[in-house]
Amino acid sequence: MVRTLEAIVGEIKKVKNIIVVGHVMPDGDDVSSVLTLTMALEKIGKNVRGVIDDQIPGYLEEFPFIKDKIKSYDCVSKFPAELIISVDASSPDRIGRVYDHFKFTRSVVIDHHATNTYFGNINWVDKFGAAAQMILRLNKMLEVEYDEDLATANLLGIATDTGFFRYSNTDSTVFEDVAWLVKKGGKIGLISNMILENRPLENLKLYKDFLDVMKLERENTIAYSHITLDMLKKYNIAPKDSPSFVGELRSIKGVEVAVTFTEGEPGLYHVSMRSKEWFDVSKVAVTFGGGGHPRAAGFSKKSDNLAELENETINEIIKLMESYDK
Ligand code: AMP
Ligand code: MN
Ligand code: MN
Repeated sequence: MVRTLEAIVGEIKKVKNIIVVGHVMPDGDDVSSVLTLTMALEKIGKNVRGVIDDQIPGYLEEFPFIKDKIKSYDCVSKFPAELIISVDASSPDRIGRVYDHFKFTRSVVIDHHATNTYFGNINWVDKFGAAAQMILRLNKMLEVEYDEDLATANLLGIATDTGFFRYSNTDSTVFEDVAWLVKKGGKIGLISNMILENRPLENLKLYKDFLDVMKLERENTIAYSHITLDMLKKYNIAPKDSPSFVGELRSIKGVEVAVTFTEGEPGLYHVSMRSKEWFDVSKVAVTFGGGGHPRAAGFSKKSDNLAELENETINEIIKLMESYDK
């Protein structure tokens, strides 16, 4: 780990113009990693573009500095980048059009997904609870000074990817990093208020409809449901602000695997999977061309028949469950 980290520091020290890119369908760890690395590299005098080739969901957009520091794809087309650093993305398709620039520009991949395809010139892929923890280590090695803004930005990813320190990826390094960042002024209360105590009422109304179409399988160990564009329209929710209820399904007593099918564009579904204790959902995600972690994984798929897509996915889960039984 230290050697790869040193190599990355070497690459950064050699150049001035850097693109930091996160993944499409951004989550808290993604925006936190892009934001934290962008702000840190600026602090040490680099010329940086933080980019995500997708819309930022409303619940993250309001977070300090995100609107200012994370730009859309347009900002990179004329930028004379000498180095691209991809964060929290497991494969090229996850960074959208920014991957086109990998042909001409040196690249570094920093990620914590076991399903990573090592698509950069230098790849640091490690088992951390959050990519934001890896950014913290990189910033420390770059001797970046942390203030409360940088600490808060960095904390966001660690808090969200560990489900606010509840998931099984919450190891001792998480608490050590959080303690360090809180000492630097990181505001954990601000983050929990913005993420957990800020749900639009429409989302809760939609949750009722989502529960109405929920189904259970295999003696109630698999729970699944969907959100279609029509369901979103009923409550005037934009697709980019579509809430994720997959955690709520997993929280049901006796459920091991939870799956949600969310329509993002007509006929295009994002499938989110979570497991509680033993089932490896990343294996199912990889079968369908996606990726993720053992307890949280996903993929996207076009389909003009949602029921068919649901059956296909649930059958694959059942098949893998049966192989555990043997
Ligand atoms: P989600 O269900 O979208 O919250 O994603 C859960 C985990 O799976 C995250 O770690 C994502 O990075 C990963 N993931 C989701 N969708 C994909 C995809 N299409 N390809 C690779 N990884 C994905
Ligand atoms: Mn992510
Ligand atoms: Mn992550």
